[in-house]
Amino acid sequence: MAGRGIFLFRLFGIPLHLDLSFLLVLPLLAFLIGNNLPLYLELFGLPQDPSLLENPWPFALGLLAALGLFLSVLLHELGHALTARRFGVETRRITLWLLGGVAQMERIPKEPAKELAIALAGPAVSLALALFFHLAKAPTGPLGFLTHYLALVNLMLALFNLLPALPLDGGRVYRALLALRKPYAKATRQAAALSQAVALALGLFGLLAFNPFLLLIALFVYMASRAEAEATLLAQALEGLRVKDLMTKDPIALPPDTPVAEALRLALAHKVSGFPVVEGERVLGVVGLEGLEGADPLAPVARYLQPPLLLSPEEEALAAMERMAERGYARALVVEGERLIGVLSKTDLLRAFQVRLLGLDTPRGVG
Ligand SMILES: [Zn+2]
Repeated sequence: MAGRGIFLFRLFGIPLHLDLSFLLVLPLLAFLIGNNLPLYLELFGLPQDPSLLENPWPFALGLLAALGLFLSVLLHELGHALTARRFGVETRRITLWLLGGVAQMERIPKEPAKELAIALAGPAVSLALALFFHLAKAPTGPLGFLTHYLALVNLMLALFNLLPALPLDGGRVYRALLALRKPYAKATRQAAALSQAVALALGLFGLLAFNPFLLLIALFVYMASRAEAEATLLAQALEGLRVKDLMTKDPIALPPDTPVAEALRLALAHKVSGFPVVEGERVLGVVGLEGLEGADPLAPVARYLQPPLLLSPEEEALAAMERMAERGYARALVVEGERLIGVLSKTDLLRAFQVRLLGLDTPRGVG
C-alpha cells in the first residue's frame, strides 16, 4: 500500500519514512486549512481576529496545523511500536503517507491479549493528546487556533482508528477479542467480513455527504482489509512448511536445444506448465507456457528462457512465495548445491493453501 518512501531518521531505533504521497498532501492540507480559517475559528467559537486573517497568517497556520496533524499521527504510531517492543515485537519501520501512518511490525503476536494491548495503544495516545490540547486551549490568537485544532484532530484520530475494520486498530481489537475464544484464522475471517461492511457503510456515507476524502478512506479500508485477511490466512496456512515439503521432485528438465513444439507436447503429456532448462548439470533457466505464447514451434526453447529464481529446499515456503511474488515468477527452481532437485510452482503453493484451509494437513515427505 504505502511504498518505501524517503528515509528520514531513526526514532527509538525505528526507521521513520515519508511516503511521496505525504509530500503531496501536506501543502494541499496546509492550503485547505488556511483557506478555511474563518470557518475553523467559527467552529471553535474563537473571535474572527482580523490580524489572523491577513497574509501570510492563514497559510502559516495551515502549515503548522498540518504538521501538527502528522506529528500527532507519528505519536499514535509510536504508541503502537513502543508497546509492541515491550512484548518483544520489533517495528520494521514507521511510514507516514497520504492517509496517516503505518507501523510495520515484524509479526503480529500470537497471544490475542498482546495484540489487543498493541492495537489499543495508538488510540490511547491520541486520546491523551486530545485531552492535553483540550486542557491547553488558548482563548485567542494563533495558539488559540492551533490548540483547538489539535484537540479536535487527535480526538478524531482516536475515534476513526477505533472503527471495527481491519487494518485499523478497531479491527485488530475486534479480531483479538474474537481470537480469545476461537481459532485465529476464523477470527480473522469474521473480522474481515465486518471490515467490508464498515467500508461499504463508510463509502455510502461519503457518497451521500459528497465527501471524496471519506470515499477514498472507504476504498482503502475495503481493499486493505481483504489484503490483510488474505495475507494472514496464507501465512497461517503455510506456517511450518518448507520448500522441500511442497516442491515437485525430480522435474523433467529440457536441454536448451529442445524445440518449442516438443516442449509443448511434453507439457501436455505430463500436465506441467513449465520446465527447468539445463545443460548437463548446469541450470540455465526456466521456460513456462505463458512465455511461449506465439513462439516459433521450431525454435529452441533457449530463445524463450527466463533467468531462474533459485531456492534452497530448507527455505520457508512463505518466504519463498513472497520472493516469487515480488519478482512475478510463476515457478522457482530448487537447488541443493549446484544440483537441481525440484520445482516449486504457484500451483504447488495454492494447493497447499487450499488443503490447509480445509483443515486437512498436507502430506509431507511423500513422493
Ligand atoms: Zn493505530
